[in-house]
Amino acid sequence: MGLRVQKFGGTSVADISHIRNVAEIVIEAYDSGDDVVVVLSAMAGVTDNLISMATEASKEPDKRELDVLLATGEQTTAAILAIIIKSMGYKAISLLGFQAGILTDTSSGKARIIDIEAKRMKKLIKNRHIIVVAGFQGHNINGDITTLGRGGSDTTAVAIASALKADVCEIFTDVDGVYTTDPRICSKAKKIDRISYEEMLEMAILGAKVLQIRSVEFAKKYNVPLHVRSSFNKEEGTMVINETNDMESVVVAGVTCDMNEARITLKHVPD
Ligand code: ADP
Ligand code: ASP
Ligand code: MG
Repeated sequence: MGLRVQKFGGTSVADISHIRNVAEIVIEAYDSGDDVVVVLSAMAGVTDNLISMATEASKEPDKRELDVLLATGEQTTAAILAIIIKSMGYKAISLLGFQAGILTDTSSGKARIIDIEAKRMKKLIKNRHIIVVAGFQGHNINGDITTLGRGGSDTTAVAIASALKADVCEIFTDVDGVYTTDPRICSKAKKIDRISYEEMLEMAILGAKVLQIRSVEFAKKYNVPLHVRSSFNKEEGTMVINETNDMESVVVAGVTCDMNEARITLKHVPD
């Protein structure tokens, strides 16, 4: 019996039937005797839509209000999953960032987690509740809602796993794990079974968006074991863990690319 934090990304909660699938995964873990804290993203595309609406409303939307707006994506999925789990006869509760005690600094849109006051979550876990936390959000010392930057639910999950001393933080996504390069771009990409925090960090920095950079930094700093895996099958994914000797033989762990960057070479042609 242990404690698992299970994070599900946007495509894993894309609609009600996907969220039912998430409920099955969570309940399977819970029925095995583990305590489970779930962290959810917004439904795929929802955060982008909210940003579009805000920029339609104003060219430069007020940052505080943008955070209030963007946080609603995760509020929706967390409530729906809790509704489904409760309807299946289990004890569940959704918590927004501030209810989960996630305190951040005051930088809107890219806030950093300062502390997690985990008393409420610990009590709920003791009473065998399945906790469903809205990812990507927290609150600052002024009591305002903040968001953690794109992909920030990964960081919410790792930070909660660290605060609760979870045995593992499972990152459920739409690919089977971390690959040598983006499997959606390169069909010959190979799944990596184990990778060190350092190597994963380098891949994330160079554009492998499967994990938010800050979540890997957090996991490395607090030694949180990560298991990146698919929510669409039961295959073992990729373990992101502390470096071990047998990893030293790996010279190149992966190749990454950032589709948003291009290189322009200017050539001076003398007259
Ligand atoms: P989620 O919504 O679950 O957080 P993301 O879209 O943020 O998922 O991250 C998963 C995506 O990361 C995959 O669909 C894949 O296209 C992309 N990706 C980029 N590089 C890699 C890599 N090296 N290994 C696995 N996935 C990668
Ligand atoms: N919903 C946010 C985003 O799309 C956070 C996340 O999914 O992790 O970036
Ligand atoms: Mg992501």
